[in-house]
Amino acid sequence: MLRLLLLFLLIIPVRVSAQLPVADMHLHYKWSQQEVTSPEEALRLLGAAQVAVGVVIGTPAERALALTQRSGGRLVSIWSPYREGGDWSRWATDKSVVQRARAALASGNYSGIGELHLVGGFAPRSTPGDVTSQLMTLAAEYDVPVLLHTEFSRADRMRALCTKHPRTRIVWAHAGAILPAAAVESVLASCDNVVAGLAARDPWRFVNNPITDTQGKLLPAWRALLLRYPDRFMVGSDPVWPVDQLDRWDEADTGWQELERFWIFHRGWLADLPANVAVRIACKNAADTFMPTAGDVCVPPLIDE
Ligand SMILES: [Zn+2]
Repeated sequence: MLRLLLLFLLIIPVRVSAQLPVADMHLHYKWSQQEVTSPEEALRLLGAAQVAVGVVIGTPAERALALTQRSGGRLVSIWSPYREGGDWSRWATDKSVVQRARAALASGNYSGIGELHLVGGFAPRSTPGDVTSQLMTLAAEYDVPVLLHTEFSRADRMRALCTKHPRTRIVWAHAGAILPAAAVESVLASCDNVVAGLAARDPWRFVNNPITDTQGKLLPAWRALLLRYPDRFMVGSDPVWPVDQLDRWDEADTGWQELERFWIFHRGWLADLPANVAVRIACKNAADTFMPTAGDVCVPPLIDE
C-alpha cells in the first residue's frame, strides 16, 4: 500500500496538499462544548474540515465516547482524568487517578491517556512512584500513547521523563508549547519514544512562540526540524475557544466552531512541505500512533483534473 501511496504522490504532486487527508490528534469534547455543539454537529464539522480521523479527549472522559461511538471508526478516545474545573492542576497528586486509568484502559474504550498537563509553577516535583510515573508505566503495560502537555521554560523535565520511561510512547502536546525549536530537537534526539504534536501552534495560541511567520510559512528553524524528523510530528486543532483561559467552566466553549479555521491555517504550512513529508505529518504519523489497525486512512483521494 505504501507503494500505491507513493504512486499517488508522484501523479499529483501539486494538487495533493489541497486535498490532503488529515488526522486531528488533538480534539477535546467537554461538557461545556457539548452545550453548544451536539455530537452530530461535531461530526459534521469534522467532515466540513475534511478531517479523515481523529483523537478525542473527553472532559469528563466519557463525553468523548458520545463522539467516537457515532463516528463509524473515524475517531478514537483517549482517557482523561479531568472531571471538573482545575483538575489540570490537581491530577498529578490525585491518588485515585492511576486506579481510574487502569479501569478505563481495561474497558477497551480508550486508545491512550491524556491530555495531562505539567505546567511550571503548578506541577509537583517528580518523585519515585508518583502519579505521573505510575501512569507512564500503565501506558507501557497497555501499549497506548500518553498525550502530555508540558509547559516549562527548559526541556529538562520532559527529557527526564522520556528517558526514564523508554517503553512509554509519549505524544508531546504542542511540541513543548513555549520551547524554541532547538530545545524541542534536544528531546527528540534524546528520546525515540517521543512524537510531537503541533495542535494550537497557530496564530491564536502560544502567540509568543510561533512556528510560522505572519504569512503562515514555517519559520526556518521549525521547517528544518520537521524535515529532519518527518516521522516525529503530527497536527491537531485543539478546538478550545475563547483562548484566554486554560479551561472554562462558567460559560460554553465554542471551539468546534473554530475547527475549520484552525485546519485552514495548518493546511497552509503543510502545503509548503514536500508531499511525502506532508502526508506523514498531516495524517500518517498520528494514525500510526493512535489507530495502528485503521488501515490506509491517509491515502489522498484521486483528483479529477
Ligand atoms: Zn494542551
